[in-house]
Amino acid sequence: MELTKAEDAMNRMSGADILELEVALRNARDSAARRLREIDEALKRIDYGVAGICVDCGGYIQCEQLRADPTTTLCATCRARRQNGRPLPS
Ligand SMILES: [Zn+2]
Repeated sequence: MELTKAEDAMNRMSGADILELEVALRNARDSAARRLREIDEALKRIDYGVAGICVDCGGYIQCEQLRADPTTTLCATCRARRQNGRPLPS
C-alpha cells in the first residue's frame, strides 16, 4: 500500500511520540518482569510445600481465590486487611 506524502508525515512519529512509546514499553517490560517473578515465587511455594498457605497468618487460601490468581499469597482476610492499610499483627 502506497502512502501519500501527507499520510506518511502524519504517520511518522515525533520525538515525543517515540519517547512516550519507549516509556510504555519500559513499563510493560517492568510489569511483565514483576509478574514473572510472582509466578516463579508461586512455583517455588509448590516445591516448598506451602502452596495455598497465607504468608501473613498461615491460614489456608481458598481454592477459588487461587484459581482466580494462582500467584496470590494472602488469604481473603489478610488481603482485605492490607488493602485497608491497617498494620499487620505482630
Ligand atoms: Zn491470612
